[in-house]
Amino acid sequence: MTDSQSLADSPRVVLVGTQHPGNIGSAARAMKTMGLGRLMLVAPERFPDPDAYALSAGANDVLDRAEVHATLADALADCRLVIATTARQRTVPMPELSPREGAQRVIAAQAMGQVALVFGRERTGLENEELQLCHASICIQANPDYSSLNLAAAVQVVAYEWRMAMLGLQAPQPAPPADPDDLPADHAQLESFFSHLGAFLDDIDFHKGKAPDMVTQRLRRLFLRAQPDPRELRILRGILSDTQRLLQVSRKP
Ligand code: SAH
Repeated sequence: MTDSQSLADSPRVVLVGTQHPGNIGSAARAMKTMGLGRLMLVAPERFPDPDAYALSAGANDVLDRAEVHATLADALADCRLVIATTARQRTVPMPELSPREGAQRVIAAQAMGQVALVFGRERTGLENEELQLCHASICIQANPDYSSLNLAAAVQVVAYEWRMAMLGLQAPQPAPPADPDDLPADHAQLESFFSHLGAFLDDIDFHKGKAPDMVTQRLRRLFLRAQPDPRELRILRGILSDTQRLLQVSRKP
């Protein structure tokens, strides 16, 4: 595995709301040691910052290339697989993987398109709304009484497993399908489907005055697990649109 190969295929590391720029620098260093080079920062508290460069110890290029985004959804728009990292299971039910299993999943998906590994804030981690944008989560099984790693240390563990999995690849990766309709839908396509589905459920008064959160979460889980392709999403949206149109017709006086 050469650096240029790994950079082209490598998953992006997305750090959300990082509070200490030193951690951004240490994360960049952790990434570069493992051959990862694509860093995205979502609303960092301070960046660019001399402390980030001080702790990157020569991984300046990773910091120089880092993209800053206002929201996590922006950073993930073109991703076909998104994996969160959390020290503990939240109220959002999602498949939980070990770093090793996560690395296998990333490698299987990276031939198909963009993959993101998402890391949370030092103090509070990832919020539930952010976890809901992800297909699965990686948990580093640490000391149960003290399970929260430093952000850059967590990046190091996950990046190491990715590198080991890459080095262990025997056969060359299969070529991705030529037609993008044969790939899993990307994040932006899925989110647009979810907002259509939300509007549809309102139109048919599915929630009957109750809070929609639980149902919305479960439906998100279902579709994130199924990883529909764009063609399948178009069929689903067609069904929603046709039903909405019929409803409008039948409601006309
Ligand atoms: N108090 C926070 C800890 C955040 S640590 C919380 O409970 O969520 C900062 C980030 O490092 C986390 O959001 C996560 O991305 C990563 N991280 C830390 N420890 C981890 C662990 N044991 N497994 C997976 N990710 C971890």
